[in-house]
Amino acid sequence: MKRLLSSLLAICLLARLDGCAMESPQGNESGLSASSRDFFAMNTYIRLEAYGDGAEDALALAQTRVEELEGLWSVTNETSEIYAVNHSGGQPVSVSDDTAAVVSFALEMAEETGGALEPTIYPVLTAWGFTTDEHRVPSQEEIDGLIASVDYRRVSVDGNTIQLEPDMMLDLGAVGKGYASDEVEELLRAEGVTSALLDLGGNIVMIGSRPDGSDWRLGLQNPFENDTVGVLTASDCAVVTSGNYENFFIADDGTIYGHIIDPATGYPVHNDLTSVTIIAKDGKLCDTLSTSLFVMGADSAIEYWREHPGFEMILITQDRQVFVTEGLENQFRVSVASTASEYPLADFRFRGTPAPKHENCLLG
Ligand code: ADP
Ligand code: MG
Repeated sequence: MKRLLSSLLAICLLARLDGCAMESPQGNESGLSASSRDFFAMNTYIRLEAYGDGAEDALALAQTRVEELEGLWSVTNETSEIYAVNHSGGQPVSVSDDTAAVVSFALEMAEETGGALEPTIYPVLTAWGFTTDEHRVPSQEEIDGLIASVDYRRVSVDGNTIQLEPDMMLDLGAVGKGYASDEVEELLRAEGVTSALLDLGGNIVMIGSRPDGSDWRLGLQNPFENDTVGVLTASDCAVVTSGNYENFFIADDGTIYGHIIDPATGYPVHNDLTSVTIIAKDGKLCDTLSTSLFVMGADSAIEYWREHPGFEMILITQDRQVFVTEGLENQFRVSVASTASEYPLADFRFRGTPAPKHENCLLG
C-alpha cells in the first residue's frame, strides 16, 4: 500500500515538479497517426509519444526495454544486478552488458566532473531518508562515517565484472533514466520512427521534429512558481533538468534539504543554483551533467561548459537569474507566464563565452 501511495503521489506531482514539461498539444497537422504510451518505471512517470505507421508496436518494444533496464538497476529489487553488486560484501559480480556500460559511463563522468557526480553516494542518500521517504537530518558523525565509503575510484569494472569494496553501494539515480532514454531512442529509430517525443521523468528526448516538420517546444519549469520560465525550441536532441526543488524535505528548523548530495560534504547541495538544464545529443550525458553541474554551482558549471564542448545549458540561480549558453541564443526564449509572483524572474542575462568557440551542438 505504501508503495502504491508513493507512486500515485509521484504521478500527481509530476506536472508541477518536472524540470521540463511538454507543451501540449504538440501540433500534428501532418496526417501521420499518433501513438503514445504512459507507464511507471524507474521510480518515475514515463510518457512516450511517436508518430507514423508502426509507432504503436515500436512503443510497446520501448516500454519492454525500459522495464528490462529497471529490472537490472533497481536498488531495492532483490533480483536486480545492482542489488547483487551492492550486497556482494566486496565480492566480484558478473553483470550484463547494459549494467557494465552504464556503470562504466557513470565512473567516467565522475572522473570528468572531479567527483561532483558520485555514483557511490547511496549510503549517504539513505541516511538522509531520500530512498525511503523517511527524511531525517543525520548527525555529522554519521555523515563522516558514511562518506568514508563513498569513492567512485574504488569501484572496479573489468569487462562484465563489477567489484565494490565492502560497505560501498552504487546508485544509478543520476544516470539510469538518461541511459534508458538513449536506448529507447535507438530502438525507435531502428523501428523506423522519425518523429517522437520521449519523457522519462523529465529526461526528454526529441527524435526528429514534430510530424509537421516544425521544432518541438518545451516549457522550462520555474523553480519558484507553478509556471514556466521560458520555451526551448529544438529537434533531435536530449534535454534534462536537475534541481533541488523537485525532491526535498523541510527540517524542523526550517532548512530545506534536497535530494542531490554534494559528495564533498555529504550534505544536500546548497549553492547559488536552483536548476540546471542540459541540452545535448546524448541523453545520458545530459542526465549526468545536469546533476553534477548542479553540485558544482554556477561559476564552476560555466567553467566546465567552456572546457567541454558538446552541450548547451540553462542555469537558474537562487537570485532568479537565467543564464543561457551561446548555442541556445536563438532557441530559448524567457517568458515568465505568471505575473502573480512577488519576485518575478525578470533578469535575463546572456552569458556565452568567446573562447573557445563551440560548434553549436544542436545545429552543428
Ligand atoms: P532526478 O532523478 O530526480 O531526475 P537527477 O538526475 O539530478 O534527478 O538525479 C538525482 C538522483 O541521483 C538522486 O535522487 C540520487 O539518487 C542520485 N544522486 C544524488 N546526488 C548525487 C551525486 N552527487 N552524484 C550522483 N548521483 C547523485
Ligand atoms: Mg541526472
